Amino acid sequence: MRDVHVHFLHGNPIGYRIDFFEGFIKVAQAAGLDEIYLLEHTHQFTEFESVYEPIRSYNDFQNNWITERMNGSIEEYIDFIKRVKDTKYPVKVKFGLEVCYIPETADILADILKKYDFDFLTGSVHWIDGWGFDHMGQKELWKSKNVEEVYKRYYDIMFRLCESGLFNGLSHPDSIKCFGYKPDMDLTEYYNKLAMLLNKHGMYAENSGGLQLNYSPDIELGLNPQLLSILRKNNVQIETASDAHKQSDVGANIPELEKMLRI
Ligand SMILES: [Zn+2]
Ligand SMILES: [Zn+2]
Repeated sequence: MRDVHVHFLHGNPIGYRIDFFEGFIKVAQAAGLDEIYLLEHTHQFTEFESVYEPIRSYNDFQNNWITERMNGSIEEYIDFIKRVKDTKYPVKVKFGLEVCYIPETADILADILKKYDFDFLTGSVHWIDGWGFDHMGQKELWKSKNVEEVYKRYYDIMFRLCESGLFNGLSHPDSIKCFGYKPDMDLTEYYNKLAMLLNKHGMYAENSGGLQLNYSPDIELGLNPQLLSILRKNNVQIETASDAHKQSDVGANIPELEKMLRI
């Protein structure tokens, strides 16, 4: 079993330490995993400051949110990877980034990413036209939105993410259901197009347990049944992902997420 979405420091002030890193290996081993994909989120690194301009300028909440989290340099992460990459561990480890795809600054992002060479890059949609739709702190903003339009934009941005050719994987497609809003429309054509683009660009999609783990135990686990079935019918590569934000959550829900791919 594999967990392709494990946050490493994720703002933890402990810093890049070998003993802390080895803790991930131990938890992964205990969870029966063969491989983990460790990542940091681009919003943690000052090198990506210009990418988040439309996010900061959207409102004060988001400006403060970014300021609180963007406090490290990607070089510290890269230095750490160099220190451990030749050591053999009982669990295979890939190092990468979860990259926010923001169409308004996609060209700037592409230029920044060119400078680095990670094992993998997974693209995620957390912002729609500047708005962070999955933030508990501004959940109320959903009430002023047209849910159908929000869903259409979410998918359009994921299509552009795929077409950018920058990524190996797509993080948590279906995260748009985070607060339970569902559109009154048939999404089949959107799901089909997403499947086609993932295949065209050789990308995997996550079957992620992140919403259930980090938002609410009441949210359905992983991809919704229709999206999952369309991705499977089109033979899209699907990988299981915990979206663990802390070390003890490595491998969370992975057996259940794995089972969904076999039924
Ligand atoms: Zn994410
Ligand atoms: Zn994540």
